[in-house]
Amino acid sequence: MQTADGRSIQILGHPIASGGWVATHEDITERRRTEERIAHLAHYDALTDLPNRTLFRDQLAHELTRVARGQNCAVIYIDIDEFKGINDSLGHPVGDELLKLVAERLRECVRSRDVVARLGGDEFAIVQTDVKDQSDIVALVAHIYEAIREPFECLGHRLLTDASIGIALAPRDGSDLDQLLKNADLAMYAAKADGRRTYRFFEPAMDARVQARRTLEHDLRDAIADGGFIKGGFEIYYQPLLRLADDAITGCEALLRWRHPVRGMISPAEFIPVAEDIGVINQLGEWVLTTACMEAASWPDDIRLAVNVSPVQFRSHLLALKVAAALVTSGLAPERLELEITEAVLIRDDEVALGILHRLRALGVRIALDDFGTGYSSLSYLQRFPFDKIKIDRCFVTDIAEADGSSAIVQAVVNIASSRRMTTTAEGVETEAQKQLLRTLGCTEMQGYLFSPAKPAAEVRALIASHRKMIVAA
Ligand code: C2E
Ligand code: CA
Ligand code: CA
Repeated sequence: MQTADGRSIQILGHPIASGGWVATHEDITERRRTEERIAHLAHYDALTDLPNRTLFRDQLAHELTRVARGQNCAVIYIDIDEFKGINDSLGHPVGDELLKLVAERLRECVRSRDVVARLGGDEFAIVQTDVKDQSDIVALVAHIYEAIREPFECLGHRLLTDASIGIALAPRDGSDLDQLLKNADLAMYAAKADGRRTYRFFEPAMDARVQARRTLEHDLRDAIADGGFIKGGFEIYYQPLLRLADDAITGCEALLRWRHPVRGMISPAEFIPVAEDIGVINQLGEWVLTTACMEAASWPDDIRLAVNVSPVQFRSHLLALKVAAALVTSGLAPERLELEITEAVLIRDDEVALGILHRLRALGVRIALDDFGTGYSSLSYLQRFPFDKIKIDRCFVTDIAEADGSSAIVQAVVNIASSRRMTTTAEGVETEAQKQLLRTLGCTEMQGYLFSPAKPAAEVRALIASHRKMIVAA
């Protein structure tokens, strides 16, 4: 029985020995509420109150009975890009708040018949019902991106995030529940592997590619044990930078190498993005920094060390502290260390990253803008932070010596840099003609196969010594 104020009263009749009945009235409001809460928890995610994986599967199964009667539906997997980085650097309460807000926005994107669920971690899924054709799905996905790319205010942090989305369509990509979920997951992985911030519809060929990527993730996790200890297989090569005015070596760039137990050497261009995704770039980056600083401390005092720092590392307030620690441990003077960052660090008008850059600069460390000319490359990035150096990307250097090549662009960059007291390094110089032209254009330094590729530490130490003798003799 329910009372007017919503309490549940249980009335039980007990027969008694003398014949007749005794009725007991028991207030079971609390018990009933507990039972309801338990039932709710079994089907809903405690953090976001969205349906959990169990309920999601039930509802999808139900929707698939409609598919059997001629309807279409889409399963949309959504994975928040670089969520682990946010969680690790800003703390779990901030991560949780972000997930709650994402859940709210996703709920607002869909119609009432559609299902939004949290499958766990930073993974969400939607069942889009009554789909007429692919354009219905594209419209919803566009809507989701719009919602997710708006800044989030999480416990005092302004966060920008993005998502990788995978889509499987029933019955086209399967009408069996598990098959459909697997295909949506594969498509999501493909979106991640294609550089994130994008969506992919399932294609049968994705299976093999995703398997390869999963294996790489697994092997990379394996190479970096818990606690950030680097087990092995990683090595740092060093590529010298040459001053164009007098051909002296001014420094070396540390370039990470990974010798995979089965595949052999794998390019950092392939595994660094994976390390960023699975949240091991901070450990890996810290190892590179410390190891390279120790090595550079053994070089002559006038030779600098350049280290690449991933934009993901700029999410962590600990970065400046770790740089300071590497300098202290190695005894390398701060002004001998140069950190190379890409404009991706500054793309989001990110106060955290700018704050970290200024703290690094306060340590005495130099900051170079890497890969200048690729990506968005607006000159406005030069206004946001006073860089010490601009590295002109290889794509401009390649055709610089040709008739209608990039020499005018390089000239413009050199002019802008020198008016702001920045130096310039041309990357990927492979021919004497390129080198001569760069010297004429007023570029400060060059780096490239013409002088030397990146080499193991011992070889570079020897190269520095022999080059020095050669220059003194000349
Ligand atoms: P990057 O910073 O632009 O490094 C320059 C890349 O160009 C290196 O490739 C280098 O070996 C290559 N290179 C140098 N000279 C020439 C040349 O004359 N011709 C040609 N064709 N290529 C040349 P690498 O070592 O494969 O590194 C690729 C990228 O991986 C780097 O690009 C950098 O973005 C990233 N990376 C490497 N090590 C690290 C690291 O320790 N941390 C982070 N976050 N990223 C790293
Ligand atoms: Ca670099
Ligand atoms: Ca570069």
